[in-house]
Amino acid sequence: MDASGIIDRVPKQLFLGGQWCDAVGGVTFGVEDPATGEQIARVADATVADGTAALDAAVAAQPAWAATAPRDRGEILRRAFEMVTARADELAVVMTSEMGKPLAESRAEIAYGAEFLRWFSEEAVRIAGRYSVAPNGATRLLTLKQPVGPCLAITPWNFPLAMGTRKIAPALAAGCTMVVKPAGLTPLTMLWLAGVMAEAGVPDGVLNVVTTAHTGAVMGPLIADPRLRKLTFTGSTEVGRSLVEQSAQGLLRVSMELGGNAPFLVFEDADLDAAVDGAMLAKMRNTGEACTAANRFIVHESVADEFARRLARRMGALRVGPGLEDGVEVGPLVDAAQRDTVAALVADAVAQGATALCGARVPDGPGWFYPPTVLTGVPASARVRTEEIFGPVAPIFSFATEAEALALANDTEYGLVAYAFTRDHARVVRVYEALETGMVGINQGIVSNPAAPFGGVKASGFGREGGTEGIEEYLETKYVGLAL
Ligand code: NAD
Repeated sequence: MDASGIIDRVPKQLFLGGQWCDAVGGVTFGVEDPATGEQIARVADATVADGTAALDAAVAAQPAWAATAPRDRGEILRRAFEMVTARADELAVVMTSEMGKPLAESRAEIAYGAEFLRWFSEEAVRIAGRYSVAPNGATRLLTLKQPVGPCLAITPWNFPLAMGTRKIAPALAAGCTMVVKPAGLTPLTMLWLAGVMAEAGVPDGVLNVVTTAHTGAVMGPLIADPRLRKLTFTGSTEVGRSLVEQSAQGLLRVSMELGGNAPFLVFEDADLDAAVDGAMLAKMRNTGEACTAANRFIVHESVADEFARRLARRMGALRVGPGLEDGVEVGPLVDAAQRDTVAALVADAVAQGATALCGARVPDGPGWFYPPTVLTGVPASARVRTEEIFGPVAPIFSFATEAEALALANDTEYGLVAYAFTRDHARVVRVYEALETGMVGINQGIVSNPAAPFGGVKASGFGREGGTEGIEEYLETKYVGLAL
């Protein structure tokens, strides 16, 4: 496979008003392959003026795009879905090269990410309002939906396509224009997508992409610009908090998809084979670099040892290596900082008395690899209990009663997703009602689905992406009172 030939063909400039442009001053920044630590490309490093030019283009394109027939907006998104799907093999190479995950994981993300284009191509024609008679009978109440206006999307590196399409597709379906700022570690996937979306017929200025190594400096003025109507962000809770503060000044509409610390509950009556299969998905999808990754395995004391043994056997057998190589199941982490963070979390747990059943040793050689690791006997004071791991590390805690399990599960500032394995139906209902999360997976280790509302509560943020809820984030409700 000619990965460098594929990377060479990806656009490296800013995409502003339908044109590929260099940054003012022609400055660029480097993109690395995490499997080698070597630079694979350089992309435009936008300045504040470039960011403003992107918003100028989005503002200029807004009225015509809002007036475009919903069916036409839907058809463009549908074409984009088909083009991304047809070119998935090429995009998988781009994604794996800049982000590290194995090709099979990149293909899975592309299938998932493309589904948002298809789902919202169908939702574009289902934007509806209401009509009712006022309670006193004297007037009529008309409720309509209108696009919120130009949006800014800021996305993370862990799902470089899907975190973008989850925002772009509903925004465009609703009739909003957008500026997208992908993560500096993984800009190539979004630049590739921008080229495909333009080919699919997205008009100039409707989708603009700004890559920059000076994120705060370039995004700040855009967030403060009164022409911007909405900010949608996926990333860390820390950055999300700061963006909400910045958005307060202009009273922007905001959606925040932030960090997680998912509990994975295994009750004594669970099907243990299914629980281990689910754990592999919930932990190892995307090498553990997912906001939905199981962060704390909370297992009934009667099955905890057996569960840990089986999970360690499966995780320890996974093949670790460069994501572009055939048969590799676990790629490198995204960069040195991420690898060091994961290694430090494991070292902290082990220093406090935890036992590593597999992994826990940073390998020699180039690249930011970390081996799948299972930890037992983890004390409550270990940092892995409260902090987002974002790597292939599974700490196991045990419990005696259902009440204890639920208290442990909810003992976190985060509230994105929780998983529970049990065969008791009444317990299923008690558990999903008691968990303080935006999403719950029952007897399954993955919840992400374009047809379902994805999002969190507490420090995991607010707003929903996907489902019928996803497009509402980009629509304003207007009420008209009609006198007779
Ligand atoms: P991050 O917060 O460091 O960066 C996310 C994006 O914000 C990047 O594009 C980055 O350049 C940008 N950014 C950073 N500082 C900024 C600033 N001052 N102003 C404006 N933008 C700024 O997060 P990350 O490391 O890229 O991603 C990992 C995090 O994302 C994890 O915490 C993970 O849980 C979270 N995440 C959440 C979801 C979800 O849907 N809830 C999905 C994926 C990832």
